[in-house]
Amino acid sequence: MQLLQNKVREEGIVLSGQVLKVDSFLNHQMDPILMKEVGQEFARLFQEENINKVLTIESSGIAPGIMTALELEVPMIFARKQKSLTLREDIYVEKVYSFTKQESNDITVSKKFIHPGDRVLIIDDFLANGEAAFGLARIVEQAGAQVAGIGIVIEKAFQPGGKLLTEAGYRVESLVRIAALDNGVVTFA
Ligand code: 5GP
Repeated sequence: MQLLQNKVREEGIVLSGQVLKVDSFLNHQMDPILMKEVGQEFARLFQEENINKVLTIESSGIAPGIMTALELEVPMIFARKQKSLTLREDIYVEKVYSFTKQESNDITVSKKFIHPGDRVLIIDDFLANGEAAFGLARIVEQAGAQVAGIGIVIEKAFQPGGKLLTEAGYRVESLVRIAALDNGVVTFA
């Protein structure tokens, strides 16, 4: 996606060798025209996968998630992040270590919204070590549903998430892949 790559090049701010800040179009202010194109592209990539639900995680996954769900004409669910929970019967819970916050959170989805037989497309804004995507996939599998694919807006390909998810058997499609964030410069893969 050329438009997305241009945005990353022009507006992305490299915070360290590891973290890219894109709060002018994805993580704080959101660009609806760009998000619409992101949704169209994910819908095109996964059109043969018989997807009937999109699953993402709050908060930055919601914009690309809802635009993808709109194109596919299916519901979108976002997992909630919570501090440690006491056991509850009505929700699926998984522990996810946050790359940006360096802490573990429980992520939760109500059992009302994912069922056996569902084909779920997981969408997220960034892929680093794969913690968030694996946590979402474990929730889908707890529900007896299938992960139909994983769509990532920006993959940092120098971190292991993409490789680990692919090795685990998931189809991962990333719209932009970053090879390095060295010396304040974004290098695309
Ligand atoms: P992972 O779980 O794959 O290790 O990291 C992905 C999650 O951490 C995403 O949901 C995203 O919110 C956050 N994240 C990871 N790396 C970055 C980054 O470079 N920039 C931003 N803005 N978020 C990131």
